[in-house]
Amino acid sequence: MLTRLPRCAECAGLPVRLRVKVDEPTTPGSQTEHLREWESPLYRDALAQFDLIARKMGLDENLYHRLRFPQRTTIVSFPFRREGYFKVDTVFGYRVQHVLSMGPTKGGVRFAPDVNLGEVAALAMLMTWKTALMGLPFGGAKGGVRINPRELSRAELQRLTRRYTAELMNVIGPQRDIPAPDLGTNEQVMAWMMDTYSQHIGYTVPAVVTGKPPALGGSVARREATGRGLVSLFPSAANHLGMRLEGARVAVHGFGNVGSLAALAAQQLGCRVVAVADYLSGVANDKGLDVESLIRWTSEKKVLQGFPEADAISGEAVLEVDCDILIPAAVGGVITKANADRIRAKIVAEGANGPTTVEADEILREAGVFVIPDILANAGGVTASYFEWVQDLQNYFWTESETVARLREIMNRAFDEVLQISIKEKVDLRSAALMKAIRRVAEAKLMRGVYP
Ligand code: NAD
Repeated sequence: MLTRLPRCAECAGLPVRLRVKVDEPTTPGSQTEHLREWESPLYRDALAQFDLIARKMGLDENLYHRLRFPQRTTIVSFPFRREGYFKVDTVFGYRVQHVLSMGPTKGGVRFAPDVNLGEVAALAMLMTWKTALMGLPFGGAKGGVRINPRELSRAELQRLTRRYTAELMNVIGPQRDIPAPDLGTNEQVMAWMMDTYSQHIGYTVPAVVTGKPPALGGSVARREATGRGLVSLFPSAANHLGMRLEGARVAVHGFGNVGSLAALAAQQLGCRVVAVADYLSGVANDKGLDVESLIRWTSEKKVLQGFPEADAISGEAVLEVDCDILIPAAVGGVITKANADRIRAKIVAEGANGPTTVEADEILREAGVFVIPDILANAGGVTASYFEWVQDLQNYFWTESETVARLREIMNRAFDEVLQISIKEKVDLRSAALMKAIRRVAEAKLMRGVYP
């Protein structure tokens, strides 16, 4: 058991009212009704995880309540002109900043048809834990626009991005909140965000976003950082489990930035990538898929479907193929209590944010699956984003080998620390990672005190 955190000195001795009971359901008229604002399966899961660990750690009650909800939430609706000029759609955008006490906030922007406030809030909370775990000087944030980017022309995507950025002028900035790419956004979208922000400010501000193209102050190796960072943990994980990586079978669910580059890094490490999926379908080949050909195919055809020298399977089937390592790298909530007992991998390395529900996590734990949790496994992205932000502020850029070496070092140090906590506390890696992260945020909040 971790030692209890000291209580807030100013509050010591004062009666602390527990306004929200741990695990109390959100029912109309109940004291937890205000949870409705954030209602979504992902937010409920994020809270359930947090509640569990807060209880284990004996977290200060005031802090416990403080950390359950984001500090600042921005919801915007704005007009967006479609091709043809006369059609104007109204779309919804969000930016949620969970903890403002650690420095600027940091987190991705997703463009997806099902984006909502609860999902974005949950992801912002995960970002707080992730940045704290990695020792980065940020709180967590997340943003999104509810739209299907695959249906937009390039000009529409640019207009949407610029208007969304303009709506957020008061809440983002290099010392306020620094967006980055996520689901449905990429380097080009970050370039348009940076340009829009700079046009409003009146001079070029590269440090307002990360994940930019290197020509605009982006960091070399940022694009590869999440996938590569995740795979850089495989040797330590395999070593801990006494497993051979040479020829180990890997399945990857989601073949975008994270999935495709994780697959490539795994292949370069000597693993055999046997199945991959995108939003439409999956492909499998037990002899191994050539990841470079897959990347060429998808950059041309946009989807995996039709890739020769592979069997067509469903996306869901990719999660359940016979493999040693499964990398969920698409969306949240894909490993659930309905399919968790059919996962055959020995290691699940969470490239996506929140791919495993709380119930599924328990099933995997009982089955002895070694889950490398999202806040650790995919932290390479935000770590490289931190490098990019530092380089932009200093106008001094590192070489690729410096960047890759520092990334590998930070990732592996975090993995080792989390593994040690998990052994010492006899908990899984997710609990250990959350304990370390929550402790750091709690200490910072206690030291800062309550204003006024
Ligand atoms: P992306 O848009 O580049 O790729 C997403 C991929 O997932 C695409 O291949 C898409 O077809 C596929 N996909 C979407 N819905 C799917 C579904 N229901 N079933 C199967 N496949 C589906 O996005 P990305 O940047 O690679 O992000 C993927 C995940 O990784 C997200 O959960 C994101 O939050 C997380 N993440 C991304 C980064 C980053 O640096 N990009 C960092 C940390 C975490």
